[in-house]
Amino acid sequence: MGKIKKINIVFTVICLFVCYSNAKILYTRGCPEVKKVALTFDDGPGKATKRVLEILKEKNVKATFFMLGVRVENDTETAKKVIADNHEIGSHTYKHVNFYSYKVADKISKMEKEILKAKNVIKDKLGVDTYLMRFPYGYSKPEGLEVAQKQGYYVINWSFGMDWKNILAQEMHIKYKQAIRNGAIFLMHDLPKNDKILSFLGDFIDEIRMDGYEIVTISELLNLKQKI
Ligand SMILES: [Zn+2]
Repeated sequence: MGKIKKINIVFTVICLFVCYSNAKILYTRGCPEVKKVALTFDDGPGKATKRVLEILKEKNVKATFFMLGVRVENDTETAKKVIADNHEIGSHTYKHVNFYSYKVADKISKMEKEILKAKNVIKDKLGVDTYLMRFPYGYSKPEGLEVAQKQGYYVINWSFGMDWKNILAQEMHIKYKQAIRNGAIFLMHDLPKNDKILSFLGDFIDEIRMDGYEIVTISELLNLKQKI
């Protein structure tokens, strides 16, 4: 083995160690040394969830769904289908409150309630203990992270996402493809208004794999486990 190759291996091992041992609360991507990516779907369960599940099943991909408590209550049947297909479930809080624009004085207690209510609904309806969460709009201010941490959550944002933008599906597909890289976390939505992704999700999965990447859940990408 050449000296440079040896140095590269040592460097990679050190990077992996730092990456996985550095327990953080907020994540926006996985380890840049590992050829893995994760697909995440927010705001469901909704009317597009079944189609997303069909595509993921056809391609044998496991994804992470950040569900809204209120939608789990209203469409428990669809949420259970996500579980039945062995996907990972995270919390997207209860009712999609935008804490960037929430100006009422009870902001911290409102956050606590939104997180706790979603946690309880997901546990009651689906039997799942969530420890991964994503605030609506990717809220990541320190007070939000602190509240999430106190309730046993890791906050997972994304490295790329734009399925709500008003552009052609082909253009969107190209942008997603260009964002494929080690540790990428892709944000998408299983909602009918974001249905452009449905037209290219299957191809996108093929393209990720053609480039040699493995598609894994968030807990696998980030090596996270439920806090005790
Ligand atoms: Zn959302």
